[in-house]
Amino acid sequence: MNAKTSVPMVKAEGVSKAYGSNLVLKSISLEVQQGEVLCLVGPSGSGKSTFLRCINHLETVNSGRLSVDGELVGYRQDSDKLYEMHPKEAAKQRRDIGMVFQRFNLFPHMTALENVMIAPTLLKKGNKAQLKARAMELLARVGLAERYDYYPAHLSGGQQQRVAIARALAMEPKLMLFDEPTSALDPELVGEVLDVMKGLAESGMTMVVVTHEMGFAREVADTLVFMDGGVVVESGDPVEVLTNPQRERTKAFLSKVL
Ligand code: ADP
Ligand code: MG
Repeated sequence: MNAKTSVPMVKAEGVSKAYGSNLVLKSISLEVQQGEVLCLVGPSGSGKSTFLRCINHLETVNSGRLSVDGELVGYRQDSDKLYEMHPKEAAKQRRDIGMVFQRFNLFPHMTALENVMIAPTLLKKGNKAQLKARAMELLARVGLAERYDYYPAHLSGGQQQRVAIARALAMEPKLMLFDEPTSALDPELVGEVLDVMKGLAESGMTMVVVTHEMGFAREVADTLVFMDGGVVVESGDPVEVLTNPQRERTKAFLSKVL
């Protein structure tokens, strides 16, 4: 499929966001095509998490247009007027987006299997046997089938994060957002989570990944975006950007992280 001919999975056009007088996103424009992986890198405080949170309805943008799979996030357009979506409609839109955070946020009183099953169960996405079979498949996909009845406290950080990925996939999202998914992990556990993410990318999932793992970005991303101070400073093919950055700010950042 020629991705360019289909509707972009994410399209940001001049997206701005302020907290009070603090302008955190300054006219961000970018596109993520269906099936693509975009890695978002940049110094702390540059607005990366805020941008993901806007995509996932956790924040609202102040100006500009943000759409997922051709639909404006949280708004409905009628001729040239925009109307805020009813919260129920927005919640439905949000269900198509999976998000994985730095902290795994698993429910501590539920087993790995129960964590993966809870959202589809609440949304009555099938009968119990079907949901259990599907959850077991997802746990197998992240390499944790044999730990299905473990509680989070008895899993390593890397295993917990893999359960968190399976839990997000249980909603059958069309877009996955990752906000520094390996930053809280001990170094020896980073690889197993990145491997699962790489497999997901290879399966065709559209992903936006905020990360400091430049090896992952180089190998897996279709596009690397460098953000600083709320603006996109530079973006392009990851190998190009990493080996031949055009902007001084990109060079300075990369010299610290590479
Ligand atoms: P990054 O993820 O790139 O480190 P963030 O998006 O978390 O950056 O933050 C960008 C800026 O927005 C920072 O200056 C931060 O202090 C500010 N900020 C983030 N979230 C909030 C919030 N909920 N309220 C006020 N300011 C915030
Ligand atoms: Mg952040």
